[in-house]
Amino acid sequence: MRLLLAALLATAFALPSFAVDVPSKDYIDPEATGAVAVLEGRDAVHSKRYMVSAAHPLAVEAGAAILAKGGNALDAAIATQLALNVVEPQSSGIGGGGFLLYYEAATKKLHVLDGRETAPTKASEKLFLDADGKPLPFLDAVKGGRSVGVPGLLLMLETAHRNHGYLDWPTLFEQPIQLAKQGFPMSPRLRDLLIASPYIREFPASLQPYANRDGTIKQVGETVTNAPMAKTLSTLALKGAKPFYDGEIAAQIVDAVQDTKINPGGLELADLKEYKVRVREAVCAPYRIYTVCSMPPPSSGGVTVLQALGVLEHLPIVEAKPLSADAVHYYSEASKLAYADRNRYLADPDFEDVPVEAMLSPYYLKERAGLVSPEKSMGKAEAGVFTSHAPATLPTLEEHPSTTHISVVDAQGNAVSMTTSIENGFGSGLSAGGFLLNNQLTDFSFNPLLEDGQTPHPNRVEPNKRPRSSMSPTMVFDKEGELVLVVGSPGGSRIIDYVLQTLIGVLDWKLDIQQAINLPRYLNMNGPIELEAGTALEALKPELEARGHEVRVTETGSGLHGIQKDADGGWIGGADPRREGIALGDR
Ligand code: GLU
Repeated sequence: MRLLLAALLATAFALPSFAVDVPSKDYIDPEATGAVAVLEGRDAVHSKRYMVSAAHPLAVEAGAAILAKGGNALDAAIATQLALNVVEPQSSGIGGGGFLLYYEAATKKLHVLDGRETAPTKASEKLFLDADGKPLPFLDAVKGGRSVGVPGLLLMLETAHRNHGYLDWPTLFEQPIQLAKQGFPMSPRLRDLLIASPYIREFPASLQPYANRDGTIKQVGETVTNAPMAKTLSTLALKGAKPFYDGEIAAQIVDAVQDTKINPGGLELADLKEYKVRVREAVCAPYRIYTVCSMPPPSSGGVTVLQALGVLEHLPIVEAKPLSADAVHYYSEASKLAYADRNRYLADPDFEDVPVEAMLSPYYLKERAGLVSPEKSMGKAEAGVFTSHAPATLPTLEEHPSTTHISVVDAQGNAVSMTTSIENGFGSGLSAGGFLLNNQLTDFSFNPLLEDGQTPHPNRVEPNKRPRSSMSPTMVFDKEGELVLVVGSPGGSRIIDYVLQTLIGVLDWKLDIQQAINLPRYLNMNGPIELEAGTALEALKPELEARGHEVRVTETGSGLHGIQKDADGGWIGGADPRREGIALGDR
């Protein structure tokens, strides 16, 4: 085991820094290798029986150890998540929320749980407005107690485990507790993000595990321990989620939110006690010979990915080479149309009438595809109009790249696709019991009205409402209903395009999951086309501009983790080379 860990760490931490770790601009033309584009990056991992793919080698190892012990995919996903909370604390954890897709092979059922944060009962639509009624700048809004939503992740994991877990709950906590107690090596990415964070230094208690006595951030490879987190995890292992929602940990959370000097917030004990996990139905739609299923509202992820696929089905994307101007053009136009609807309509379905069925109607999507010209950009796409909804456009909300995605498949063919988040890197900056608290309420629209200044914004803050998300945990099934792909990513509102491009890569261009993840990123959130800096895509800029597109070359931070069914009956794992994660199987 020690050897395996050493090897994993050497692979992951040999990377100089996440910021420069983008795929090389060199790639081999698909023509040269037959049907498949071979792109530089990592090679896929093959396994016979099971696979885990997630954002940190030690967390993946914790999940794989559970599978080796006979645990199922859900058990492994929980252990992986708890370990990520320790070793990738900036991105996700029990202080935040998430969405879970669990595929049960024996019944062929897809179970969907919504553990998204809710606004406290005391929150109002003025939460993020200043004294003059103007929306606060993001950085003023994000810090401290005001942005903290009621965390849903832990109750979601406990609920899922009660229904579908195999191993005992405390067993899932063993490795995560060890990591918090005995420590783990500071990773390059964690160190870079601590240094770059505009506000984590304002919260010395939260910084403490990662800093030396003099306040300097620990060096890469130095041991990070988190004794308060070890204590919290030990309590939860023993007693379940109760102390977190109605007990000693609840009190710590509420004290942290209310007593902070930086933007004290209104979260109360009753909010935690009343928190409910929602059971939802996956949104699924056919795409060519496949059925693609993903997260329904309050995430905008699933519907937007499926809308873009539904448009692309009518455009010549299969014939286009993955890194050609044609591919970027068609992809971008489809993505714009989907984002236009997303921005207008998607919000918490328990509060708003979200026209999901109409948005995914094949007739509607065919009509939308008719708006795409082969030669010319359509400019900014308008949202479609559905009965009872007025057309209107919206400012894009700021969403920031933290978050994490876990994909697991076990030896019985059960699978988990789970995306979890504390929103911005290091969340609100506040911590309680060794874990960071989210700033997920900033995913609401700060402005309670649409741009017309009259219509209520569907994603405005309301008490107990869930902010709109972009998280898109996804699974794909073939004609026989067999699971063929599990995938998801962090990346704020760009998550949708990261997942979409990976689906096209695997389903249409027949890349393996790792090659699809390695693909240089392009995306369009109904604004300029974004091309990943330092890649071959930069050369397409003039040609795309000639078609009328505004083009920006940007650094993109996808963190895709996916698993694909192998032709030999095993599994192929892929992990994004842009982050520190790995895929790990049983051979
Ligand atoms: N808060 C975002 C959401 O739920 C995710 C943020 C991220 O990926 O960085 O959609």
